[in-house]
Amino acid sequence: MEFATRLSNVEESATFKYSSLAKKEGIINLTIGRTNFTTPRLITRAAVSALENGRVHYTPTRGIPELREMLAKKLKRENNIPDIGPDNILVSAGAKQIIFEAVMALIGKGDKVAMPNPSWVSYEQIVNLAEGEIIWLPLKHENDFIPDEEFLSALENSSPKLIMLNSPNNPTGAVYPEKIIREIVDIAERKDCWLLFDEIYEKIIYEGKHFSAGSIYPKTITVNGFSKEFSMTGWRLGYCACPNPDLIEKMNLIQSQTVSCATSFVQYGALAAFKEEVAEERDRMITELKERRDRFVKGMNGLFETKVNPAGAFYLFPHLGDIDDLAMADKLLSNGVGLIPGSPFGSQGKGCLRISYGAVSLDEIDVALERIKATLA
Ligand code: PMP
Ligand code: GLU
Repeated sequence: MEFATRLSNVEESATFKYSSLAKKEGIINLTIGRTNFTTPRLITRAAVSALENGRVHYTPTRGIPELREMLAKKLKRENNIPDIGPDNILVSAGAKQIIFEAVMALIGKGDKVAMPNPSWVSYEQIVNLAEGEIIWLPLKHENDFIPDEEFLSALENSSPKLIMLNSPNNPTGAVYPEKIIREIVDIAERKDCWLLFDEIYEKIIYEGKHFSAGSIYPKTITVNGFSKEFSMTGWRLGYCACPNPDLIEKMNLIQSQTVSCATSFVQYGALAAFKEEVAEERDRMITELKERRDRFVKGMNGLFETKVNPAGAFYLFPHLGDIDDLAMADKLLSNGVGLIPGSPFGSQGKGCLRISYGAVSLDEIDVALERIKATLA
């Protein structure tokens, strides 16, 4: 049987693949990018009440106006993004769907997309689905995977139509300093290219501060979602904002011919997300995640070639040296630790392992460290 050529270069999501391999009795699961906290009760109650009150039909394709209104205010208040009203917002079934729609709206065969190497696995595969061409911007583990001079000059010497960035970062946990984001924006502005800035981990920061590229560059598509901050990965709800209404319109065109709209009662549930009580619950989650990071980082001292202590998200991306990370991930799985090898995130991820501590207890971290030590011995 022959399949479409656009699929010839597309690989399965490594995060989902390794996560399903790790779903076995006795395995400590450090694979998937989610937390083990439950969605705040206020959100769940609002969704249940919407269901009970008959909010079970299609919504406008862009999302319900109340939610778009609320998100526009949030982006102005918390991210200093100007010129955003409800018409500049698109709500969809997850940030991944939003990223897919943005790439499909902007990128055709052979169009160039610049992204850090490593990047979250789906960026590369979504661009492959759109038949675009990737320009890899190298990051180094020696610099904690924060963009440096070499990264900036690779960008300077390329001519992408779109740049894709993510901070706090998956897979590295790096939080990009404002100065670096400004330098990247400066290049984007001179080249007049689009910037997709993925802020899905914006609130999960232990040190440093988040800076939104959309606050200084109008050709930014600011992407965010409810999955991480509100522990809602299974609800499937994400959004983006862009001052350019034509781009939102084109993305909405794709949405109207594919998923139609985000799930109705999920959108109504999200209306309760920006309440004080929910923010307090989130802050408790972040305190706990920081404890897990500190426990892991302390236990990893001397274990790997590089010392890691990322400032955000819930990932560690240690470099083990010149090893086959795919084989090492398999070996660790057979010794009771599930994690993701670094290579699927890009060639600079070779020799690295991605560890998610979002869904494990401190005791499980201790056991995982013992097993990792025994495997590396
Ligand atoms: N961006 C990044 C960087 C991610 O890690 C994820 C992981 N889920 C997403 C986007 C997509 O999130 P979702 O589709 O669950 O909203
Ligand atoms: N983004 C998360 C991860 O990297 C969830 C899975 C996915 O969407 O890839 O594990």
